[in-house]
Amino acid sequence: MVDEIIEVEGAVPRLEVVSSLCKGCGLCIEHCPQQVIQFTDKFNDMGYKYAAYLGEGCTGCGVCFYCCPEPGAIIVYKKVKESKGE
Ligand code: SF4
Ligand code: SF4
Repeated sequence: MVDEIIEVEGAVPRLEVVSSLCKGCGLCIEHCPQQVIQFTDKFNDMGYKYAAYLGEGCTGCGVCFYCCPEPGAIIVYKKVKESKGE
């Protein structure tokens, strides 16, 4: 699996953390401009407390995606860019 930023038409931007791949480094939490990521109380199979989206407030900026060192751990869904017309 690879890290992804996916454009979705008409969708509300959101973040998905693949909990099994997160190593709990906290970089996404530290750098999210909206502060909408936090650690859960749970541990994944590797023994790391993993990050999760709070559920609202994501703008789809992709900062978390770019700062996450673990391939495939973060998927960002963002809105398709609107064309400017003529
Ligand atoms: S895409 Fe941006 S706003 Fe959304 S969770 Fe990631 S860093 Fe935060
Ligand atoms: S940056 Fe990646 S590995 Fe680090 S806590 Fe966030 S999702 Fe997990």
